[in-house]
Amino acid sequence: MINQIETFTESKHFRIKRVTEGVYATVSVPGTGSVGNAAIINLGNSTLVVDTFTTIEAAQDLYEAAEFLTGNSVSYVVNTHWHSDHTTGNQVFSQNAQIISTTTTRHIMNTFGRERLSQQLSNPEAIYKAIDEFEEKMQLETNEHLKNEMKGEIASNREYMKMLPNLVYTLPTITFDQQMTIHGSDRTVQLITYGGGHTQSDTFVYLPDEKIAVMGDLVLSKHHPVMIHANPKEWLNILDRVEQLDIETIIPGHGEVCSMEELYGVRTYIKKIMGMVEEAVQNKRPIDEILVPGEYQEWNLSTYFNANLKKVYELITEKED
Ligand SMILES: [Zn+2]
Repeated sequence: MINQIETFTESKHFRIKRVTEGVYATVSVPGTGSVGNAAIINLGNSTLVVDTFTTIEAAQDLYEAAEFLTGNSVSYVVNTHWHSDHTTGNQVFSQNAQIISTTTTRHIMNTFGRERLSQQLSNPEAIYKAIDEFEEKMQLETNEHLKNEMKGEIASNREYMKMLPNLVYTLPTITFDQQMTIHGSDRTVQLITYGGGHTQSDTFVYLPDEKIAVMGDLVLSKHHPVMIHANPKEWLNILDRVEQLDIETIIPGHGEVCSMEELYGVRTYIKKIMGMVEEAVQNKRPIDEILVPGEYQEWNLSTYFNANLKKVYELITEKED
C-alpha cells in the first residue's frame, strides 16, 4: 500500500497522507488548483470522497488517486460546504457518484453560487484585471510571508480562470438536514451538520470507530479561519458540540492532518477576533489599526485577516443599530 501511495504523489495539486488503513487526506499544495483539502475514505465495497477542490484538473487527480488507493470507483462525494474550493470539482465525479450535501448547501450553490458563476463567465476581463492589480500589490508587499501567500492566491486564481470555460456547474444529488449514515461493507461513516458556522451550513464526516473527523473549514490547521460568510457565535456552538464526540484525528479543510488542539485553536481565534473588534468599537478605534496577533503571524490565509475583522465589525455594528 505504502509503495502504491508513493507512486501517486505525482499530482502537483496535493500530497496524500495516509491517516489509517483506507483513510487518506489529500492535502492541498499552495498555488495550485486544489486550494482546499479533500479526503478519500475506503468503505470496503465502495469509496467516499470528501470535497472536490477548485479546478477540474485537481479533481481529476483526486478521482484517479481515490480509485488507485481503494481499488473502487468513487460512489459517494460529500460537499462539506458551498465554497468553490470544496465543490467546483464535482463534475469529475458526477457520472458514477452520488454527490451529497445539506439541503441548505445545495440551495446556496443553486442560487448564490450559480449567479456568481454566471457573473464570472459574463465578465472574465474584470476578474483578470483584479488579479493583475492584486499582482501589482503583491510585488510591493514587504512582508515576505504575506507576499508568498499572495503569490499562491494569484497562481490558484489563474488556474481557476483557465478552467472556467470548461466548468459544468454540478449540484449535489442527495441532500440531508441533520445526519446521514453510510454503511459500507468495512466501515460506517456519519455525515453530520450542526447548522452553519463557517458558512450558512457546514457538514463534517465522522468515523466513530476510527475516531477521525473530516471537518471541512470548521477546523483549519495553521490557517486563518475564513469568516467572510460566517456566523461566529454559531461556529463556536458547533465546535462545542463537536468536542462532545470522540475524536482523536482531524482532517482539516486547510493545512496538515491534526488533532483536537487545532479545533481549540480555531475557537480561540474566533473569540480573539470578536474580542479585538469589540474593543475597537468600544474605544471608537478603526479596525484597520488591528494587527495580526503574534501567534498567528506564521499562519496561512493571512489575506483573510482583515476581511474577518470587517465581517465581525459588520455583525457587531448591525446589531447595535
Ligand atoms: Zn476552504
